[in-house]
Amino acid sequence: MFGRAPKKSDSTRYYEILGVAKNASQEDLKKAYKKAAIKNHPDKGGDPEKFKELAQAYEVLSDPEKREVYDTYGEDALKEGMGGGGGGHDPFDIFSSFFGGNPFGGGGSSRGRRQRRGEDVVHPLKVSLEDLYLGTSKKLSLSRNVLCSKCNGKGSKSGASMTCAGCQGSGMKLSIRHLRPSMIQQVQHVCNECKGTGETISDRDRCTQCKGEKVVQEKKVLEVVVEKGMQNGQKITFPGEADEAPDTITGDIVFVLQQKEHPKFKRKAEDLFVEHTLSLTEALCGFQFVLAHLDGRQLLIKSNPGEVVKPDSYKAINDEGMPMYQRPFMKGRLYIHFTVEFPDSLSLDQVKSIETVLPAKTSSQKLTDMELDECEETTLHDVNMEEESRRRQQTSQEAYEEDEDMHGGAQRVQCAQQ
Ligand SMILES: [Zn+2]
Ligand SMILES: [Zn+2]
Repeated sequence: MFGRAPKKSDSTRYYEILGVAKNASQEDLKKAYKKAAIKNHPDKGGDPEKFKELAQAYEVLSDPEKREVYDTYGEDALKEGMGGGGGGHDPFDIFSSFFGGNPFGGGGSSRGRRQRRGEDVVHPLKVSLEDLYLGTSKKLSLSRNVLCSKCNGKGSKSGASMTCAGCQGSGMKLSIRHLRPSMIQQVQHVCNECKGTGETISDRDRCTQCKGEKVVQEKKVLEVVVEKGMQNGQKITFPGEADEAPDTITGDIVFVLQQKEHPKFKRKAEDLFVEHTLSLTEALCGFQFVLAHLDGRQLLIKSNPGEVVKPDSYKAINDEGMPMYQRPFMKGRLYIHFTVEFPDSLSLDQVKSIETVLPAKTSSQKLTDMELDECEETTLHDVNMEEESRRRQQTSQEAYEEDEDMHGGAQRVQCAQQ
């Protein structure tokens, strides 16, 4: 950082940026900076990089001490002196301290000085699937900071914004120490007189409404319009409605939609999914049922004559899914996932009558007495495979034993099928 002599480096760039000669007077520098900074101010559509460079060049050359360092050792010496990070002030601070306010007029207290951007305030907003299907609007009451109307956000009765004498309003103090003729050290620290705010207000001059805080709390009702087809996680933004603060561009209030779980429908993009369980009879012989949609319409859903619905199969209805965002007349599909409930057991009579109507058993299932005599009898047990695999994972020893069991059973079943 310091401790070695900065090498001789370019010390003409700052003069070129401002377009002045190396022997320019303080007056020449001021004139040049004023003209160029107004022309390049980002508020007037200028290039922020160019604006920053101008401020940097002016900051150095207008300070006789820094100018001397720059002339002798160049830019790098100053950078090293500032702690290696490039340092420097906010170009907007330099600009406003030069003009003593906002040269573009308007009198707005939030413009012209340090153009910090305030933080966005993010609120989650819970909505139902019905809200996203139909669209809705919600009125929400929020409390926010606004600039005090009595003092115009100055914090003082006189209305005058008193610039801190200790730091000229920058909130930071800089001191340059010459360690040896060829070495400098520049130290930046928070101004102790204004605690970094850049302003001081005397007790007598303090605004009675905001107690010198510059802002007061205000209740505000925002109407959030949830449009048809909006998605979970979608943002609805109210620009510039967040907390106000002096010399700050007010941030946004952002609502993030959070769709509540729906007891019946699941949503995937523009499509809706619904679960439906059929009895075995319905799956084989046909079904019809009524499904209440998200807008309350009653949809009649029925199978085609002679159609068989297999377990774990899907069917879809076109244009009964979610409306598409900003094209609500277009809709996705409504998928129905079918589960078929089989009876746990049948009586022998039931079996006989079913057998008469179902397709005949395949011949491989009919065994001769001779073939049966050669087989061993087995017993089939009910198993819960999920539970078994969970148990198998618990210890490898258990897993091994159960695996053995499974193999034995499988072999015997294979024999019976031959
Ligand atoms: Zn100060
Ligand atoms: Zn006030």
